[in-house]
Amino acid sequence: SSYKRLLIVSYRLPFTIQQTDDGPELKQNSGGLVSAVLSMAEQMGQNQGDESTKIHWVGHGDASMQQDNAPALENETFIAHPVFMDEAVHKGFYEGFSNDLIWPLFHYFPSYASFNEADFQHYQQANKRFLDELTALIQPGDLIWIHDFQLMLLPEMVRQAVPDATIGYFFHIPFPTYEIVKLLPRSWRQLLIKGLLGSDVVGFHTNDYVQHFLGSVSEVLALPIIEQRVVLPDRSVIVKDFPISIDFNKFNTSGQDTTVANTRQHYQNLLRQNKIIFSVDRLDYTKGITYRLLGYERFLEQNPDWHDKVTFVITVVPSRDTIPQYQEIKREIEEAVGRINGLFGTIGWRPIVYSYNSLSFPELMALYTACDVALITPVRDGMNLVCKEFVASRYDNRGVLILSELAGAAQELPEALIINPTDKQEVADAIKQALLMPAAEQEERLIKMRNHLQNHNVFRWSSDFLTAFDNLKTTHSTLE
Ligand code: UDP
Repeated sequence: SSYKRLLIVSYRLPFTIQQTDDGPELKQNSGGLVSAVLSMAEQMGQNQGDESTKIHWVGHGDASMQQDNAPALENETFIAHPVFMDEAVHKGFYEGFSNDLIWPLFHYFPSYASFNEADFQHYQQANKRFLDELTALIQPGDLIWIHDFQLMLLPEMVRQAVPDATIGYFFHIPFPTYEIVKLLPRSWRQLLIKGLLGSDVVGFHTNDYVQHFLGSVSEVLALPIIEQRVVLPDRSVIVKDFPISIDFNKFNTSGQDTTVANTRQHYQNLLRQNKIIFSVDRLDYTKGITYRLLGYERFLEQNPDWHDKVTFVITVVPSRDTIPQYQEIKREIEEAVGRINGLFGTIGWRPIVYSYNSLSFPELMALYTACDVALITPVRDGMNLVCKEFVASRYDNRGVLILSELAGAAQELPEALIINPTDKQEVADAIKQALLMPAAEQEERLIKMRNHLQNHNVFRWSSDFLTAFDNLKTTHSTLE
């Protein structure tokens, strides 16, 4: 490609600082974005190990990074540029505007959204702090890749500061219909949409989100749209779907690692070879965890012959649990687990094995490969990677995926048993169908889904995003 360097901007940096016996040390995150960025840098000929080709990453700096004994935020691959801000600004920007307004609103929970003028001011100030950190770094030939709903104003800020910059933006959550966007005060929705249009390429997970965004662009700014391009006086913006994905090979091969195999055997012994239904999500009202429990309850009610033969292993990963709404759903989940286990359980059988904890990678892999059914039922999810990880883990071509139609991933995985999560009867029927599904049908469905994910992995995601910039020049010349 014609770009010399990749500059990444996201709320989270690629490192955290961990306390060890030898003092604080850098720990590189293992999430999907880090591996996608690494592969994109490689395609650009960056990240060749020498100092001048390291990847610069601008992100929020936490308190541990400001301490006197904090290590330099740099390793063989990345140079991190922490953005520090006043505690009050951070709170309004991150906890307030981002997590208490945009997150619920864009996941279709408008009644959970809190509209607060001071939060929007802090959001603007925080985006400006990111801009200051970034402009000190920008050089001609850079490709700037900005991520997610915490930084919607930043592309236009960069455009103003460096008019000929090349800017990509990826939105990691759903982009809702205009009827939802319309709930935002007029000046806010104008600034947010204009903010995103500072980019050259704006990416979303699915074509639905692309259409919703374009709908808002035309409602709010009345700009012309030609195919999937927003036409501005001096340039145009490509708006396109890029479904994020996973490192397929990592999940495909790890199932046979010794630690994973031993852990899997251990779990199967503990559960006395019962059929296993499994789910894992962060604690969030978007994940549909209570509906899922009610669907399982309906299944147990209607299928006494399955009692004592099936176990639902449900793991909820702690998240945002200082916020009242999250405490409330945690209470609701735990109440349902207790009630269902009390109602159907016996001395020798617990229908639900619940934990509120995170899983190590081998534990997660052991559960993906030990289970018979993965039950993934969000009421709204931008993509959902857990279901993709489950499919990629099943090198044995066994297991059934039950997936909500309200997850972005459902568009790509039609061979799953697709359900509506609020429909208890549909969930109960799908559980029964999954438990009884012949091995040949499990295999047939999994092979199709696995082929899709093998091709559409996270490296494909980043390379497609990079390729979209090649169309920029041709786009401009066709318009002229
Ligand atoms: N995951 C995790 N800790 C755990 C269990 C799972 O970090 O204890 C990972 C999981 O492997 C997946 C991610 O968390 O990669 C969840 O991504 P998803 O898109 O499904 O949901 P999100 O939490 O981003 O809404």
